[in-house]
Amino acid sequence: MPQRIGLFGGTFDPPHVGHLVTAVNVRHALRLDVVVLMVANVPWQKERSRRITPAEDRFALVEAAVADVPGLIAGRTEIDRGGASFTADTLVTLGERYPGAELFTIVGDDAAAGFTTWERFEEVASRSSLVVVDRPGVPVELPEKFKWNRVEVPRLEVSSTDLRSRFSDGRPLDYLLTEPVLDVIRDRNLYGSAH
Ligand code: ATP
Ligand code: MG
Repeated sequence: MPQRIGLFGGTFDPPHVGHLVTAVNVRHALRLDVVVLMVANVPWQKERSRRITPAEDRFALVEAAVADVPGLIAGRTEIDRGGASFTADTLVTLGERYPGAELFTIVGDDAAAGFTTWERFEEVASRSSLVVVDRPGVPVELPEKFKWNRVEVPRLEVSSTDLRSRFSDGRPLDYLLTEPVLDVIRDRNLYGSAH
């Protein structure tokens, strides 16, 4: 039974090396038993601005990304729950599934900056310790009333947005995402993949 669990939520459309480098480094720095890459079902803060790849496809991509990485797992709690994905609800589910475990909510610096726009963010902060992933030397501050800590991880300037545009214009994807993820993208013909 895992005692220290990291929750790293995202759209993962698609998952890339920035996500993986972050997850393994936070796991190491905080001695977490597992980090769950939790696939958002409906990312309510994004769904109006662009077309989101179906959740089951994104889950298959994250499964492929973590398959050979010790301590990382793909989470489907938010997909199974359905509807809009709120981290507060996911923490409740994880708390029930792993009684007594200590929970850590992992967010990148951009996500941390918007933390107080999250649904029931106070509950997220009370049910877990917040972990802000930051590039070395550049502090992000969260309000003192939250229990939070900061882990420095070398920042790889990779985003899913940039990867999707690489698929559409044919620029190289090498080293930005892993081969197992690319295989699933090709198999399922995602992102109009000619690659
Ligand atoms: P998009 O470009 O579609 O917004 P993204 O690359 O930002 O995608 P998300 O699924 O939105 O990926 O991000 C999930 C989590 O991963 C967020 O907490 C985000 O801050 C973090 N994250 C995204 N890219 C990186 C990166 N290159 N390094 C570290 N953390 C990242
Ligand atoms: Mg993002």
